[in-house]
Amino acid sequence: MSKKYVYLFSEGNENMRELLGGKGANLAEMMNLGMPVPFGFTVTTEACNKYYDDGEKISEDIRKEIFEYLMKLEELSQKQFGDPKNPLLVSVRSGARASMPGMMDTILNLGMNDDVVEGVASLTGNPRFAYDSYRRFIQMFADVVMGLNKAKFEEIIDEMKDKKGVKQDTELDADDMKEMVKRFKKFYQESLDEDFPADPKEQLYRAIEAVFRSWNNPRAIFYRKMNDIPGSWGTAVNVQMMVFGNMGNDCGTGVAFTRNPSTGENKLYGEFLMNAQGEDVVAGIRTPQTIDQLKETAPAAYQKFTEICATLEKHYKNMQDMEFTIEKENLFMLQTRNGKRTAAAALKIACDMYDEGTITREEALMMVEPKQLDSLLHPRFDDAALKTAKPIASALPASPGAACGQIVFTAEQAIEEAALGHKVVLVRLETSPEDIEGMHVSEGILTVRGGMTSHAAVVARGMGTCCVSGCGEININEKEETFEVKGVTYHKGDYISLDGSTGNIYGEKIPTVPAEISGDFERFMKWADEVRVLKVRTNADTPKDAAQAVAFGAEGIGLVRTEHMFFEGDRIKAVREMIVSKTEGQRRKALAKLLPMQRGDFEGIYEAMKGLPVTIRYLDPPLHEFLPTSSYDIAQLAKDMKIDLDELRSVIMGLHEFNPMMGHRGCRLAISYPEIAEMQTTAVIEAAINVNKAHPDWNIEPEIMIPLVGDKAELKYVKDVVVRTADEILKRENVEMKYHVGTMIEIPRAALLADEIAEEAEFFSFGTNDLTQMTFGFSRDDAGGFLNDYYEKKIFEQDPFARVDQKGVGKLIKMAAELGRSTRPNIKLGICGEHGGDPSSIEFCHRMGLTYVSCSPFRVPIARLAAAQAAITNK
Ligand code: PEP
Ligand code: MG
Repeated sequence: MSKKYVYLFSEGNENMRELLGGKGANLAEMMNLGMPVPFGFTVTTEACNKYYDDGEKISEDIRKEIFEYLMKLEELSQKQFGDPKNPLLVSVRSGARASMPGMMDTILNLGMNDDVVEGVASLTGNPRFAYDSYRRFIQMFADVVMGLNKAKFEEIIDEMKDKKGVKQDTELDADDMKEMVKRFKKFYQESLDEDFPADPKEQLYRAIEAVFRSWNNPRAIFYRKMNDIPGSWGTAVNVQMMVFGNMGNDCGTGVAFTRNPSTGENKLYGEFLMNAQGEDVVAGIRTPQTIDQLKETAPAAYQKFTEICATLEKHYKNMQDMEFTIEKENLFMLQTRNGKRTAAAALKIACDMYDEGTITREEALMMVEPKQLDSLLHPRFDDAALKTAKPIASALPASPGAACGQIVFTAEQAIEEAALGHKVVLVRLETSPEDIEGMHVSEGILTVRGGMTSHAAVVARGMGTCCVSGCGEININEKEETFEVKGVTYHKGDYISLDGSTGNIYGEKIPTVPAEISGDFERFMKWADEVRVLKVRTNADTPKDAAQAVAFGAEGIGLVRTEHMFFEGDRIKAVREMIVSKTEGQRRKALAKLLPMQRGDFEGIYEAMKGLPVTIRYLDPPLHEFLPTSSYDIAQLAKDMKIDLDELRSVIMGLHEFNPMMGHRGCRLAISYPEIAEMQTTAVIEAAINVNKAHPDWNIEPEIMIPLVGDKAELKYVKDVVVRTADEILKRENVEMKYHVGTMIEIPRAALLADEIAEEAEFFSFGTNDLTQMTFGFSRDDAGGFLNDYYEKKIFEQDPFARVDQKGVGKLIKMAAELGRSTRPNIKLGICGEHGGDPSSIEFCHRMGLTYVSCSPFRVPIARLAAAQAAITNK
C-alpha cells in the first residue's frame, strides 16, 4: 500500500504529533474527546519533507490524496468548494511538532471568489461580512503565497478610511468592503501581472505549498535554532472548515490559557473580541476584552468553554493555550496546545499541579524548560530605587522582569546596537514575527498596541524577555525616532526602564539587584537535585563569581582560568615583566611579584567555596595577549623595567605568532618556562594550606589542571614540576595534604591517546571549546563570521561551539572517556567548555557517564535541571 500523507481529524490522535504536528494531533484528540471542532484534515509532516525531497514540489500522488480528502471534507460539512449556493470555506494553517507561535503562515477564508462571495452574502444576509472575509483572504493569500507586501494593503485601507473620514475598520460598510476587494485585486493584478486565482482548488494547492515553504522562512529558521528544533521535522498543514467569528455581534473569537501564563495563577486567563477573526486578537490591532467578560457577553459559550478547559488541562496534564471561535453563539475549538509561560509561572504551575495530585514529581520536572530559568537569575529592580522612580506611563505587564536600556525603534537598530554591547529597549507600535531577532537581543520590549496575547507578549514570554504591551498613551514618531508621552519627548538612545511585572514604564535608568533562589524555585530545584546523577560545578575566576555560583547551587569549581586574574589592576605590569624577561633570573623576579597576588586569589576562592572541590587550571593563553600594544604603554613598560625602548619593541615583535591559538600556549608555556608552573603550584598549595589551617573541617584537596596537552610526555614533564614543588612545600610546612594533578582533553590527539594520558592524569576535563575548534578546524574567535552562512544554507543547524557536536566531537569524548577508564577505572571526568551549560550537551554528558558538568555561575540552575531531565529521560 502506498504511504498515507493525509488524515482526517477523526483518524488521528495526540500520539501522532510527529506525523500530524502539534496542532493536527491536538485537533484530532479534541475531536476524540467529543469537543466541538470544525471538520478538517491534516497533510502530514512527511508530505512536507517529501515536498523538499522532490525539489520543492508537491507530488502528483499527494496532490490527488489532498483532493480526495477535500471531497471527504465536503461530505462531512455538507458544503461544496466553490459552490455559491452552499460554499465550503477553509483555513489553511501550519502546525509543526513543536509549537512555533507566529513563525509560519496561516490563511483564512480560502475558497472565496467573486461568485462565492455573493453566495455568502445572500446566505448570511450579511454582505459586509462576506466582503470583509473576501478582502482578508486576498490580503493573506497575497502576502503568504505570493510574498506581496502587507503594508500596501493597509495603505489602501487607510486611504479608504481617510476618504470616508472614519477611523476604524468597523466603520466601513458593505459597499466599502466591496470596493476594497476591487482595489485589492487590482493591486494584486498590477503587482504580479496575473489575476487573483478564482479556482478554490488552485487556491488550496498553492496555500499548502506556501505553508510548506514557510517552514524555511528566515524567522522560522531562527526560531528553530534558538529552540533546538531540527529542520528535518517539517511542518504539517491543517485544512479546516471555517467557522466565523466576524458574522455579527453574536459571533466572536478569542484565545485563552487555563492558567495565567505570566504568574501561573490557577485561573482562566485570556482575551476575546466579538465580531472579529482570529488574527485581530493575536495581531494586537484592536485591544480585546478579558475572558471574564465573556460570561456576560456569551454566557452559554463561556460555560461550555470553561468545561472544555478543565477537561483539556486534566487530559494533557499541562496548562493549555487554546483558540476558539463563537459562531452565532455556538462555541468551536480551533486549537489547544501546552501554553508558553514565563519561568516563574512554569515553576508555580509545576509545583501546583504536583500538589493538586495531577502530576508526579518527575512529570513536574519535565514541565519546565531549563533554559527558561535564566530569566529568574538575572537582576530585578532595586526596591528602594524603584520606590523613588516615577512611572511615565503604565500598560499591560505582558512578560515579567526588569529591563533598563537605551531606546531603539526597529529590530534592525536593536541588533546593531546590541552588537556594540549596548543594552536596548525596543519600542514598537506593534511587533510582527519578523522582529524576532531584534526582540531576542533587547533587554525589554514596549509596544503601543496589543494585548496580553499579542505577538510581542507571547514571543517575549517564550524568550523570558521583559515586555510591556498595549501602551496607547505613547505616540511614536518612527521617522523622527522619538516617542512622546504626556508632553515629554524621548529620543533614540535615551534610557528607559520597564517593569514587566507591573507594566510600569520609567523614563530613566533604574539600578537592579541580583536574583535569589527561593519559594517554588527553591523547592523545584531540590527535586531536581534528588533526581540527577551528574554533579554541577562552575567556571569561576573570582571569589565573587564563586560565591554567586554557590548561591545558585554549584557543587564545586570545574575551571579557574588563572590568566584572568592577571589583567587586574597593577598585576599586568608584573605579568609583562615576566613575559619580556630574557633570562630565567629576570623571569623568577617577576614571578615572585605575582606569587602573593595569585596565592591571595586562590585563598579567596577557597574561602568562597567553603571546602567544595576547586580545579585550578594553569596559565593557558598565548603570552603576547598580555603585551602592551599602544606606543604609550610600550614606552611606559620600558621605563618601568628600565630597559631600552627599541629592545623592548624587538622582544614584543619576537613574540608575535601567526596562529596564536595553536602557538605558544597551554602546557607549552610551562614546558618552556617551568618556573611559571612552579610559581602557580606554590600559590595553589600555600593557599590551600592557609585556608585548611583556618577551617580544618574543610579538608581542601587542590585539583591542578594542565591545559592543552596532546601527549603523555608533555603532561608528565609539567606534572613533575608540580609534584616536586608541591612536595617540597608540604615537607617544609610539615603538612599532610592530598592534591591531584589532571589534564584537559581539548586537543583531538589527547582524546585519541587518552589511555596513555590517564597513566599520568588523575582526572580529565573536556575543554570542548578548544576540542570543537581543533576537531572542526574552525577558529573559535572567527567562526561566528561564517557560520551564519552555514545556517542559511542549511549545512549546519546549530552552532557547534554552543551545543556539542555529538557526531564528531562527541565521538572523541566517548572514546576518551572509555580509554581513560580502561587505564584508570575510577577516573573523574568533567566538562568545562561552554557546552557544560547547554541542556542538550548536558544530556549527552549524562549518557557518557561523566562525573560533572561545569558552567558559568548563571547557568548552574539550568544545568541542575537539565541534568535531572537527562536522568529522567534516560532511565
Ligand atoms: C576549553 O577549551 O573548552 C576551555 C574550557 O578552555 P578555554 O576556553 O579557556 O580555552
Ligand atoms: Mg581551552
